[in-house]
Amino acid sequence: MRIAILARRANLYSHRRLVEAGEARGHEMRVINTLRCYMNITSLRPEVRYRGEKLEGFDAVIPRIGASVTFYGLAVLRQFEMMGVYPLNESVGVGRSRDKLRALQLLARAGVGLPVTGFAHSPDDTLDLVRIAGGAPLVIKLLEGTHGRGVVLAETDAAATSVIDAFRGLDAHFLCQEFIKESGGSDIRAFVVGSRVVAAMRRQGKEGEFRSNLHRGGSASVVKITPEERSTAVRAAKTLGLNVAGVDMLRSNHGPVVMEVNSSPGLEGIERATGKDIAGTIIEFIERNAEPNKTRTRGRG
Ligand code: ADP
Ligand code: MG
Repeated sequence: MRIAILARRANLYSHRRLVEAGEARGHEMRVINTLRCYMNITSLRPEVRYRGEKLEGFDAVIPRIGASVTFYGLAVLRQFEMMGVYPLNESVGVGRSRDKLRALQLLARAGVGLPVTGFAHSPDDTLDLVRIAGGAPLVIKLLEGTHGRGVVLAETDAAATSVIDAFRGLDAHFLCQEFIKESGGSDIRAFVVGSRVVAAMRRQGKEGEFRSNLHRGGSASVVKITPEERSTAVRAAKTLGLNVAGVDMLRSNHGPVVMEVNSSPGLEGIERATGKDIAGTIIEFIERNAEPNKTRTRGRG
């Protein structure tokens, strides 16, 4: 097969591994810089162009769209979908996962366990918003943050109010969320491919840090997850419409709660922690599922 990887940097571990795994299985892999793609949006003949060349003949596209280029990356991915190329994750699923509020609303509707979360616009509602999240300590997070940036633990109601005021002053959208203290600065990343959790790791924030992101100095180790955690992760990915997802959960007193679902989950941490060939598993999934004109969520937001 001819498989395109939409990514900005070909030399990132995840992208290198996908190329390696694809080539090892006899496929032609090509990393395409998302931001250098441009489009001809003509009726019946949609095209993606790249440095003067018309891109065609791809059987599948793997979107690895960075959070900072979500808007443009989704447009390029949609164009590939219009051309009938099989997307590993569909544009609709990627879009849902990028907006934490929208993702939580969809997960809530599906009955997936979540930390109690509030969202408000008016400063007049700040007190009630803090109350929804159970009062301090509580977590305040920017809707479109990533790598733990924009996630704040407010230890007192006064601190919460100041952070909320500050975010509002910057016209930023944010969530207020129940702080799951019992997770002790660690979370579970379940890596879903298709309808299976193919690997899982536990990430522990560095000393004195409640955020367990590896980008924030957290460390990863292999973990055995419970059947409930397994089914929660699979259900979360399915609800957002993602074939491949990194589902982040906290172990709360009331069972697993999903914080977020990542649609371009990194491979480095999980492959190193578990020793598994996740890139190979992803390529195998594409082999089994890729077909032209298969986008399922066509026309659905
Ligand atoms: P990002 O997209 O920036 O990674 P997350 O929502 O995943 O944002 O939060 C980053 C980290 O902060 C999580 O991995 C987790 O360790 C911690 N965290 C987030 N929300 C909560 C919460 N409600 N209770 C306890 N810890 C949390
Ligand atoms: Mg996260």
